[in-house]
Amino acid sequence: MNYVICSDYLVKGISEIKRRMCLVISNGVIEDIKPYEPKELPRGYEKLNYVGKHTVITHGFASSHTHLGLYPIRSTLLNKLELDAWVKRYVWPWELELRRRPELSYHTALIALKELVSSGVTLVIDMHPNGSEVAKALIKYGVRGNICTPVMEGGAYKSIDESLKENLRLLNEWHGKHELITVGLCPCTVRLASKEAYEKCIELALKYSTNIHTHLSEVVDDIKYTLSKYGKRPAHYLLELGIGKVKTIIAHGVWLTLNEIRALSSPNITLITNPRSNYLLRSGKPQLRHIVKYLNTGLGVDVAPTYNIIDEILFLKFNERWLAPHDMYRLLTEGYRALSIGKGFIDVDEVADVTVWRLNACIGDPLMGVLQGVAKPSLIMVNGAPIYRDDKFKVAYDEFNKSYSTLLDVLTSF
Ligand SMILES: [Zn+2]
Repeated sequence: MNYVICSDYLVKGISEIKRRMCLVISNGVIEDIKPYEPKELPRGYEKLNYVGKHTVITHGFASSHTHLGLYPIRSTLLNKLELDAWVKRYVWPWELELRRRPELSYHTALIALKELVSSGVTLVIDMHPNGSEVAKALIKYGVRGNICTPVMEGGAYKSIDESLKENLRLLNEWHGKHELITVGLCPCTVRLASKEAYEKCIELALKYSTNIHTHLSEVVDDIKYTLSKYGKRPAHYLLELGIGKVKTIIAHGVWLTLNEIRALSSPNITLITNPRSNYLLRSGKPQLRHIVKYLNTGLGVDVAPTYNIIDEILFLKFNERWLAPHDMYRLLTEGYRALSIGKGFIDVDEVADVTVWRLNACIGDPLMGVLQGVAKPSLIMVNGAPIYRDDKFKVAYDEFNKSYSTLLDVLTSF
């Protein structure tokens, strides 16, 4: 199906606001961008006209570092624990349970995506032991995903070998097999994945033309560890192992020095900031001004009390007041550029991943309306197909209810 979508405003490129515009969409791609002329709309396209309804079209957003599987335990971030204590008390026992019953990861992802997608997210870069179940939930919504298995020793895995085999199995099963899904390799973090594990993941990413995804310098212990074991700070250590050779998603970077930030500057490397999890786990505060200046920088919910990407960007804005609207918009769309899924901005020949927002308040700048959280989606489209329309997802409410009750039973006895 091909569409013409018209709206009161359009955010074209990074921050150019245009009045009364239409997107002409065919075969999943934006074929043309035209001023709204009701009598001259092209024939043979379904017309979705939002003009006069106080609406704005933006590109779809990305949550570029996410753990959909941890959604049911998200509120435990409020329990005043620091990262390692929280992981041991809540994350690993929950992941062990999910590995025993993989179908629970499908139900978890199905519910988590409801909140994430409602905030305009059309691309999720995820890390989870049961990636196959996550892929099924993403496809159910029609959302793009880049998935992987955390390659690590500890928690849900007895050895690196076991987790790496699972990541490879996921890659063979899903990478490039569905238009919405790609699979990366995920050496989890320097303290849980060995030097050999990083080297193997980089080698495989090169072989399969895919990305790696890792946590870096989230807590001070990461720095102590690589300094004592390899005599280098974490970024220099990973750069020497070759992360710059492949597309690399780095989560956190809380303790990166300016020297490390400069060294990481590469078209292949994208740093994803996760302000709420860093704050609640008291991990620290990254040098975001330097990070944004030198590195491709995106945003992810990681694990947070809500999986709403607008909550994440607003929290960031309260802590980093210098961020301009176009900086925030760039952070929200960076995952697209990180994975080379187009430019991540609305333009001709770009993928048709777009959201039509209904501005629920009188506001001068429609983009700020979206970023301030006063807008709600009227239409969300991925790859030129509507996935949310007229306040309804493609996923039936019965299915949400089934997933809710399945998880409720498990959580009460967990
Ligand atoms: Zn994480």
